[in-house]
Amino acid sequence: MKPYTCSNCGNLVHFDNEVCVQCGLRLGYRCWSDDMVALDPAGQVAVDGQSTAQSAFLCENAAQGVCNWLVEDAGAARLCRACRHNVVIPDLAVEGNVERWARMEQAKRYVIYSLRRWDLPLPGPDDAGNRHLSFSFLADVQNLDGGVEPVMTGHDSGHITINVAEADDAERERIRTEMKEPYRTLVGHFRHELGHFYWDVLVDDGGRLEQFRSIFGDERQDYGQALMAHYEHGAAADWPNRFVSAYASAHPWEDFAETWAHYIHMTDGLETALSFGLRLTVGASLSQPRTDGSFDPYRAASAEDLTRRWIPVSIALNSINRSMGQPDVYPFVLSPPVIEKLEFIHSLVQRNGRPGSAA
Ligand SMILES: [Zn+2]
Ligand SMILES: [Zn+2]
Ligand SMILES: [Zn+2]
Repeated sequence: MKPYTCSNCGNLVHFDNEVCVQCGLRLGYRCWSDDMVALDPAGQVAVDGQSTAQSAFLCENAAQGVCNWLVEDAGAARLCRACRHNVVIPDLAVEGNVERWARMEQAKRYVIYSLRRWDLPLPGPDDAGNRHLSFSFLADVQNLDGGVEPVMTGHDSGHITINVAEADDAERERIRTEMKEPYRTLVGHFRHELGHFYWDVLVDDGGRLEQFRSIFGDERQDYGQALMAHYEHGAAADWPNRFVSAYASAHPWEDFAETWAHYIHMTDGLETALSFGLRLTVGASLSQPRTDGSFDPYRAASAEDLTRRWIPVSIALNSINRSMGQPDVYPFVLSPPVIEKLEFIHSLVQRNGRPGSAA
């Protein structure tokens, strides 16, 4: 995520900050103007050391310490544009769940930020229409007989369920190791599950099914059987030549969701790098020297363009992480068929994000 500035003192602040460490004022993010404002003790926006007549209203979930967004129209809404999609939040009577919930909301805000940058449809649970995006954060149920009813992280017609245990670093790492995944994060879960939602909205409703099938394959093959086969036999040995991850090879829907997630990973990662002044050229074949300092990854010309700029950045980030003894930030290889799939997602995001503009 790119850095922001405190409206009061001009200090660099982060998207997640609740308080400015320099001037000490409460911070709130305004998603409608994409900026971070400081609030004086009376709840007025402070700019350049002065209180203004502008009132600001924190999202109701700020009281729990899980949200730092402001509410645009305080007369109508108590929850911000990110929190209004929640249907079930974690049971806060359970020890540690406030912290787990905070990590979930943080990841969700990063993803909602990206969707808003593209102006993608974000229908809330109370909005009109037949497509709604909502979230439930649920925990496995321990039965009296000692059995466990597991909660599956997944998507069902716009309703996304995330197992609260995924917000537990140790538990998520245990699952990652068990599943032999190179990467497992909360932000990755949100991006992946949203891929399923936008498949419904942009591919199915959007009249792009034929093109989808020609690139990703026929999604009418039995989904349950395909997943079972994947978990039983694993991915084909040559999956890296065709898919962005082993799991993407399980079914065309999963391929789409995985590739969708990568499109957001790359865009957000690249915007972050560029906003800190990081510009890299690693090898002439990977990247050409660039003078366009104003390049906006959210308005990239193509997925190929995005990928060409992202690869040197990801190589550098991985190398820095290895210097620190940390795992790779981006442990993936993007083969030509994957870039073609990313191109399809690019066309969906750009066409539906900007109505009226050319596809
Ligand atoms: Zn400040
Ligand atoms: Zn909120
Ligand atoms: Zn999925």
